[in-house]
Amino acid sequence: MPTLVNWRIASIAEILPRVVSEEHKMNVFDSRFYPKSNEPLEQVLMYFLTMVAMDHRLSRPGKPYEAIIDGERLRGADLLYRLGIEMYRNNPDFFSPEHLARVREDEVAKWLSVGDAKPVDIGLRTHLLNDLGQKIILVYSSNPKNIILLSRNYIRSLNGYGLADLLKVFKAYQDPVEKKIFLLVKFLVYRGLFNPIDKENLHVAVDNHLTRIALRTGVVELEYSLSEKAVRGSPISHDEDVLIRLAVREAYKAMSRLSSVDPLLIDDFMWYFGRSVCRYDEPRCSVCPFKSFCRAYETGVFVNEPFYYDTWYY
Ligand code: SF4
Repeated sequence: MPTLVNWRIASIAEILPRVVSEEHKMNVFDSRFYPKSNEPLEQVLMYFLTMVAMDHRLSRPGKPYEAIIDGERLRGADLLYRLGIEMYRNNPDFFSPEHLARVREDEVAKWLSVGDAKPVDIGLRTHLLNDLGQKIILVYSSNPKNIILLSRNYIRSLNGYGLADLLKVFKAYQDPVEKKIFLLVKFLVYRGLFNPIDKENLHVAVDNHLTRIALRTGVVELEYSLSEKAVRGSPISHDEDVLIRLAVREAYKAMSRLSSVDPLLIDDFMWYFGRSVCRYDEPRCSVCPFKSFCRAYETGVFVNEPFYYDTWYY
């Protein structure tokens, strides 16, 4: 089983308040990617529900999801949300529950493709969108505001009506580690659309950057067989993947508790840190604030995130 290493978690927690700042906070009103602040609430909710549902595995080895739009090179999630906001501006009804319920594969392929950049799983994405649209119509009376109203600003609730519980009716949001749920929660909180009463239930959205950083620093250690797979880049199973990412999520939760830094801000910082410092294949350890206790720096073994590609969870 993956194990949390408390002294390393405490070491990072001690440094976090000095390196994390409001500057790292994601700008969820950046009009290059997201709707403006004065847009109708229902449309904004449908935009984020749809885009987060699509926010998984865009690039594959040898097949980067990357394109130049308006002179700007965009890749991964940046390209996805740029294509999302372009569609939203030209045709906001694309995101209506009625349209999503019957959207076709060729429409989704056309929407998410630019030149050679095209996600490999268009059929699956179409299925997730159909499921999202159909269930918003059937379960939430065609109005996404009902999801927020029913949650009464709770993330979890014993009656099963917390936001996380309510989102799990959608196939796109059924990841046991809840990456998409907490990404959506972050968008909604930062835009002032959801104000969680049970803040103790907030978590980071565990993506590849956060997993890689947790394994390299050693805040999560894997037993020998799993560690070997991570080092060699061998495939891991669904259950191994879930166990690793749950441990990663708990490690960041513990960091948040010890440092008193909000988990959403830790999420923003680690995402930025993973793209700029602890990069895939090219860590910049010389400028890293964690190197004095980083396991990878000490041992010279720099794992990337474990190899589990065929998923819509993250
Ligand atoms: S020391 Fe290097 S491997 Fe360790 S967290 Fe920093 S950048 Fe990543």
